[in-house]
Amino acid sequence: MFTFQPNCYAKVITVDGQKKIVIYSRRDINVNEEITYDYKFPIEDEKIPCLCGASTCRGTLN
Ligand SMILES: [Zn+2]
Repeated sequence: MFTFQPNCYAKVITVDGQKKIVIYSRRDINVNEEITYDYKFPIEDEKIPCLCGASTCRGTLN
């Protein structure tokens, strides 16, 4: 059974009134290791397009 275990997590912060997505690492990440993170954001009212191009990508960040 495949379990998605992202090595990063995303968080939305507000800087000067603008929402920013910041990615935090959960652990040490090797060089060339793919950055993955759970697409759980505290805001769901607007879709943020994802441009990562991964085949498993659902196209938005939230
Ligand atoms: Zn993506």
